[in-house]
Amino acid sequence: MKTILRAVAAAAALAALSASAQPAAPEVTLTRLDCGSGNNDQRRFSDSFAYTKPEVPFTFSCYVIKHGDDYMVWDTGYLPGSNPSAPKVTLGQQLAQINVKPEQVKFVGISHFHADHTGQLDTVPGATLLIGEREWAALKTTPPMAGANVAGFKHWLTDGGKVEPQAGDKDVFGDGTVMVLRTPGHTPGHQSLLVRLKDKGPVVLVGDAAHFHENYQNNGVPGFNYDRAQTIASMERIKEIEKNLKATVIIQHDPRDIGKLPAFPASAK
Ligand SMILES: [Zn+2]
Repeated sequence: MKTILRAVAAAAALAALSASAQPAAPEVTLTRLDCGSGNNDQRRFSDSFAYTKPEVPFTFSCYVIKHGDDYMVWDTGYLPGSNPSAPKVTLGQQLAQINVKPEQVKFVGISHFHADHTGQLDTVPGATLLIGEREWAALKTTPPMAGANVAGFKHWLTDGGKVEPQAGDKDVFGDGTVMVLRTPGHTPGHQSLLVRLKDKGPVVLVGDAAHFHENYQNNGVPGFNYDRAQTIASMERIKEIEKNLKATVIIQHDPRDIGKLPAFPASAK
């Protein structure tokens, strides 16, 4: 009995020692940047004629994740000046407002290759591009897949930018706090992002897995999506994550979800 107690005490002491030797977990924060706003014809977003509104408000969101001393940008919005929905303040200017230098951005993750998510990739040329493997392949085929914003990827396609095409999920910093999730359907290699925050809890940024509350709630699929079945499977995956982790799901294009994170320049922790 004494031996067991001594062993338990020794184990507890060892555990306390190794706990104190662990470096403090890096702080993780999530900030939303405004990357454009406009209107869209809601009827385009259901292939089963579920919607009737010729115009609903659309927002375009970019995000910055701080992980200790490293930064990641998620989606980059439209290129300013490229169309009426494009942002007036650039991604670079917004990064400067929160004291982030482009060279501090280690990763740039994108949900998919459309222009409203990749217009300002060039802001962070030193960042490693995290893109779905099938998305990357679709950019490189001749001709590239329709709707792929090839020009936005020039630095990574031809000028030596670092790219890590993702076949599946990616634990970005190796500690489970930031995970790229494979959610195909809108495009072949579409991805979403899970960020686990200490105070706010887990947050899922859905990319274009859904475009607004109504199609997320009722599995509404836009007729222009790449694959209908994959779209529904991806929405179901996100709903399961929402339930299992009690996560906050943010639909990036839905203005009603802007308020789920603190207003810029504040961040969720
Ligand atoms: Zn989009």
